[in-house]
Amino acid sequence: MKKIAVLTSGGDAPGMNAAVRAVVRSSEYFGYEVLGVNFGYRGLIEADFKQMEHLDVSGIIQRGGTILKSARSEKFREAEGRAIAAANLKKEGVDALVAIGGDGTFRGGTMLSKEHGINVVGVPGTIDNDLIGTDETIGYDTALNTAMQAIDKIRDTADAHERLFLVEVMGRDAGFIALETGIACGAELIILPEAIEKIEDIKESLKDILKEKSRSTLVVVSEGDESGGAIKLSKKLEKDFSKYDMRVGILGHIQRGGSPTAHDRVLASRLGYEAVHAIHKGLSEVMVGVINHEVKITPIAETFGKMKKINMELYELAKILR
Ligand code: ATP
Repeated sequence: MKKIAVLTSGGDAPGMNAAVRAVVRSSEYFGYEVLGVNFGYRGLIEADFKQMEHLDVSGIIQRGGTILKSARSEKFREAEGRAIAAANLKKEGVDALVAIGGDGTFRGGTMLSKEHGINVVGVPGTIDNDLIGTDETIGYDTALNTAMQAIDKIRDTADAHERLFLVEVMGRDAGFIALETGIACGAELIILPEAIEKIEDIKESLKDILKEKSRSTLVVVSEGDESGGAIKLSKKLEKDFSKYDMRVGILGHIQRGGSPTAHDRVLASRLGYEAVHAIHKGLSEVMVGVINHEVKITPIAETFGKMKKINMELYELAKILR
């Protein structure tokens, strides 16, 4: 009988539990045993394992966070750490690993496969949505909706005082959350890493907007923008816009938490199943994703260093609708 290990790694994302549940239940369907690994690659090195069966994953599909916990492990970046991890897996009779996480998680898993012959399948779980090979990553939709609801509330209070509000959302290198929450909340301006705008251009746009506007003005800023995020941007703007009541809000980690949306639960369920299905077919070093509603298997190395592009048409649309 095959034995599959499953772990969640890197930044946690809502829907990871739904993916773990799907891995456990699909393994049961194919007749495989499952070993849960606590704390990502750190848990592999420390042999922090637990057998997982049907009932161990009941009641978790709606829970945010990850019951397997997550961690970042410097030791796993070194060959010595990965050798200990592989030996621990082999001692448990594990043939394959499902790694739920982002780019770094996939790089680590690939090393483990190449160096020690353990089949590794990646499941894209990150709120940033920055991986190619899938239209959306697990957790992105929930983060988007959480940010939207928070910004709607900020809009109410901003309206009441006719304030200029800069709201920072997550997205280290990619502006997916900023772009789509910006549109969903009717933001007057969206500042993204993908749209290179000089500070002078931002000032000009803002002046135009403030000329037209009497109500509040909402600027959604991606944390990874070259302006340095909402606080730094506000400092660059304060002199020119001193007559406005400018405020800054940083949404921060609330975007990672909360019960996953239906969309994330369904995506995670599909991808968890497809990961086990891929192992069943003998595949390794692949990532499972969904593109245009269809399951897509991508060689994992193809996802490295290639950021998914945002849809610039949406960026232009936001300018028309502001
Ligand atoms: P997120 O996008 O949410 O940050 P991630 O999976 O990219 O998720 P990382 O912190 O980059 O998160 O990676 C998770 C873990 O994967 C690291 O702590 C490390 O143990 C392992 N890892 C990352 N890159 C490598 C690499 N090049 N070689 C070996 N292991 C790696």
